[in-house]
Amino acid sequence: MSRSTLDSDIQYLPGVGPKRAALLRSELGVGTFGDLIRLYPFRYTDRSTIVPIASIRPDMAYVQIRAKVIRSESIAGKRLSVIVADSSGEMELVFFKGLKWTSEKLAPGKEFIFFGKPTGFNGRINIVHPEIDPIHIAEGNAKTVEIQGNPASAMSGTGVAGAGAGTVTGAGATAAAGTGPGTGIATGTMTGVYSSTERLRNGGITGKVMNRLEEAALNAVLPEIYESLPAYIIKEKGLVPIRYALRNIHFPENMTALEKAKYRLKFEELFYLQLSLLKQKYVRSRNENGIPMPKVGEAFNLCYKALPFDLTDAQKRVIREIREDLRSGHQMNRLLQGDVGSGKTMVAVLTALIAIGNGYQACIMAPTEVLAQQHFRNISKYLEPAGVRAALLTGSSKAAERREIHTGLEDGSIGLIVGTHALIEDDVLFRNLGLAIIDEQHRFGVEQRSKLWKKSAGGIPPHILVMTATPIPRTLAMTLYGDLDVSVIDELPPGRKPVLTMHAKESKRNALFRFMKDQIALGRQVFVVYPLIFESETLDYKNLEQGFDQIATAFPLPKYKVAIVHGKQSNDEKKFNMDAFVAGRADILVATSVIEVGVDVPNASVMVIESAERFGLSQLHQLRGRVGRGSEKSYCILMTGNKVSKESGRRIEMMCATENGFELAEEDMKMRGPGDLEGTQQSGLPISLNIASLARDGEILNDARRYATTVLDRDPSLASPENAVLKEELRKEKYRIRDYSKIS
Ligand code: ADP
Ligand code: MG
Repeated sequence: MSRSTLDSDIQYLPGVGPKRAALLRSELGVGTFGDLIRLYPFRYTDRSTIVPIASIRPDMAYVQIRAKVIRSESIAGKRLSVIVADSSGEMELVFFKGLKWTSEKLAPGKEFIFFGKPTGFNGRINIVHPEIDPIHIAEGNAKTVEIQGNPASAMSGTGVAGAGAGTVTGAGATAAAGTGPGTGIATGTMTGVYSSTERLRNGGITGKVMNRLEEAALNAVLPEIYESLPAYIIKEKGLVPIRYALRNIHFPENMTALEKAKYRLKFEELFYLQLSLLKQKYVRSRNENGIPMPKVGEAFNLCYKALPFDLTDAQKRVIREIREDLRSGHQMNRLLQGDVGSGKTMVAVLTALIAIGNGYQACIMAPTEVLAQQHFRNISKYLEPAGVRAALLTGSSKAAERREIHTGLEDGSIGLIVGTHALIEDDVLFRNLGLAIIDEQHRFGVEQRSKLWKKSAGGIPPHILVMTATPIPRTLAMTLYGDLDVSVIDELPPGRKPVLTMHAKESKRNALFRFMKDQIALGRQVFVVYPLIFESETLDYKNLEQGFDQIATAFPLPKYKVAIVHGKQSNDEKKFNMDAFVAGRADILVATSVIEVGVDVPNASVMVIESAERFGLSQLHQLRGRVGRGSEKSYCILMTGNKVSKESGRRIEMMCATENGFELAEEDMKMRGPGDLEGTQQSGLPISLNIASLARDGEILNDARRYATTVLDRDPSLASPENAVLKEELRKEKYRIRDYSKIS
């Protein structure tokens, strides 16, 4: 059969039509038969199980009861209340729609199977709009277990509430549901529950209908689904065939079959993800020559000797790793991870000096003007002993200065340039760029990186070092940066004091202000940060302005000076305010985003985070890293409203409990899902995962990565016939690595 069935428009699936097709498309992104079968249930209910009414609790998931109708009562013509009973007790079923039809069908004395989600109401338990089935369905099933266990463990997927489960999928049920001739697809008693929305339900696409549609789609496409993994991989990894997996993920024959199906699909997804990342890396390391930098060089040594401190062991280790890369003859592509204040900038400077000592130029790109300036200030200091000429280039560099810098870069007299993405503009040319250091990777996309490559001398790409202070869980790093080597600085320079983190509710604001005043009286400075969340920018600025007014009132001039920095200011305004705080002329800095406070002010000892419940863990952690850099005891105060949701409460608790960025990042990923790790402005993943979860399937991911490495070791270009299918699959859209990071 041709591939056309998989790609067939969903409206042509029996039971769909143009109206439902539009819904499926807009609500679930399902446009073809193929899309539909790749939409997996996010959990399952076991409909072989009948629960005695007396054992039902409101916190149970879906339950199935077998009960007789005792009586029903229409309440004001708006609601139908039906009392049903089994031998263990009575309960109420409630209907808001189809009252007439339902009350006729549920005649007193008749027995049915009811299925739905119990809820507690006024101390009583009821089920709203249960599904109603004739009892012969239950009789078709072999077992009648007393208590319904939890449905199969939740699968990854968006947790949109299920629309209720579908029909029993035994042969008898299929016939009862009227889907035409059974095809032997489903024999089990577990039923998939799919993500749903109000609009889908209102459009008639209930859980039951979804099951029917999935069945129809599977019938149509399964015969043409080919095995998407080579036979040897199926065998070596003990996987089930793809058709079996797809059938059982929708209509599990039993628990074991479901587990096998899930494993197969997860493994496949993670395997291809890793294969595609690793393949890029392989191709590059074979094809991309790197500029050889055989020596450490004079510049490095001069600077190193002049350092006022010893490097930490972690810094030394990382420099050794970088050193190996630089002299290998291959291009370095390394990610340097380390908490705020762990000394990454130091490592960057020393790396730049190696490049310079080998006769090349280096650049450091920062995501914002303020950060570029700060880097430049810090770095210039270190470069002095080495006598290297450095320059700063940003969007606000004046024309004359710009010309001078351009000349210096072209004639090679500037050894190190620090800047924003002004550096990648076309008119910036280097004599011989040998190293590009990028601070905060997620703001520079692959495209931007490759623009830098082209600036290099003789067409050999410069070495790349990417630095990030956002600790990323290992499984995510492997995926986000799967094509990079990773170094970690997991040790802070000695002498850093822990930051005392506290949670304070709005009712404690006066106490907070008193505390801030005490700290200011001791000569310290205070950050006050407001969340800036994309969707409601206007509202956020209103918050910020109100907050600023409140602080300006509580901390009046001339005794206190308050500076404010936010994204709507001009660069000059920002710089003016920032400088005032950095130089100690302002006691308090009120600011919006994380980036703008990405500055080093050792005298600042208090970080107040307003509406802390609106920040993710990683952001909170980043912000906290801005204090505790000096010799004084530091504090981070998480302000929230008086009421805090369970999830926010948990985040705040975590923050108060640990300062370890990696621990927090792991937790954050578990709580929010990997896609949302870095806040609301981006979803970090290079491809979207359909079934696997980086947070939960770390072990499968490791295994998949190891296995992908083995496959590539044996056959780096996947040229052997047995790997043809791998090559074919990698060409597919879904495995193409996105340029995940947008330049800001
Ligand atoms: P990061 O860039 O990782 O946030 P920085 O490189 O800015 O960290 O370092 C933070 C502070 O620690 C800086 O003031 C820096 O001079 C200092 N520092 C860096 N390495 C060491 C070290 N090995 N010992 C003592 N202080 C250090
Ligand atoms: Mg830094």
